[in-house]
Amino acid sequence: MDSITVLMTSPMSDYLEKQLKDRFNLVKLWAYSPKTDFFKHNSHSIRAVVGNTKIGADAELIDSLPELEIVSSYSVGLDKIDLRKCQEKGIRVTNTPDVLTDDVADVAMGLMLAVTRRVCECDRFVRRGLWPKGDFRLTNKFSGMQVGIVGLGRIGSAIAKRAEAFGCPISYYSRSEKPETNYKYFSNIIDLAVNCQILVVACALTEETHHIVNREVIDALGPEGILINIGRGSHVDEPELVSALLEGRLGGAGLDVYENEPEVPEQLFGLENVVLMPHVGSDTVETTDAMADLVIKNLEAHFLKKPLLTPVV
Ligand code: NAP
Repeated sequence: MDSITVLMTSPMSDYLEKQLKDRFNLVKLWAYSPKTDFFKHNSHSIRAVVGNTKIGADAELIDSLPELEIVSSYSVGLDKIDLRKCQEKGIRVTNTPDVLTDDVADVAMGLMLAVTRRVCECDRFVRRGLWPKGDFRLTNKFSGMQVGIVGLGRIGSAIAKRAEAFGCPISYYSRSEKPETNYKYFSNIIDLAVNCQILVVACALTEETHHIVNREVIDALGPEGILINIGRGSHVDEPELVSALLEGRLGGAGLDVYENEPEVPEQLFGLENVVLMPHVGSDTVETTDAMADLVIKNLEAHFLKKPLLTPVV
């Protein structure tokens, strides 16, 4: 397959890059500046795009690659891919579901514990030598807290399973009720926010879920409530989140994702009730290798005319 040209849109993992290089004619978009040089030399040869959460395959990129057959995404989220355009042009799309579910759910649990038990603040307290001057203040008990999940999909369900083990009553909001679970269903996010102490965002980012967490939802969660976001930054109206935290209208937040990554609102840096992670939900050695393997297997299946492993379109 080394005559097939595959475009990688941005640096992802060294392992993935090596696997692609060993099998295909690999072209790296970020190696070209300006980008017009890239399109001049490569646009007619590229048959596959490997994108991620930073740069996927938008309409402009798709339109500039006339021979494109498949977009194999190194992510489960599809928000950086113009799916409609792919469908129209008969371009196949694959993603990396399941293999990253545990890691992202683990990060959600870590954020919940870190915010309620002030793990990061405790760490700073010890490192700054403040302990000999007095004990750390009391925090809040996480076990048993009411956890509300927005989007009971693969990751949302894995979070629910973990939170259940902490004795947390689980409720959720999704477009459809999941009767196979014992969790309490709310048909709208406001009712979910009113009835939980920790609201966890785990749904897909679509036009419908853009800013699904707005001022009304934040106010429904209230001054004792905690927001955890491991979905996508644009699920949350970030300026509203920042002002609610600054004004004490929200109790705390644990965030892995932001609206304008890698930019994070500076006002959050001084808040001890906020824990910030740099979009690393699935970033473990084990999981990124498994994601890379899935990207490769989907590409190989496509070019060998076999069924795709994780088709989206
Ligand atoms: P999934 O299994 O497809 O689950 C997505 C869930 O979103 C479904 O339960 C769906 O439920 C719900 N949903 C879709 N539209 C909705 C709407 N309008 N209102 C409410 N719920 C809606 O996907 P997954 O594997 O769990 O991944 C979920 C998301 O996590 C990804 O899309 C990605 O953005 C994010 N993620 C983040 C990281 C990270 O590093 N932080 C890593 C991986 C994934 P219904 O169909 O019942 O509505």
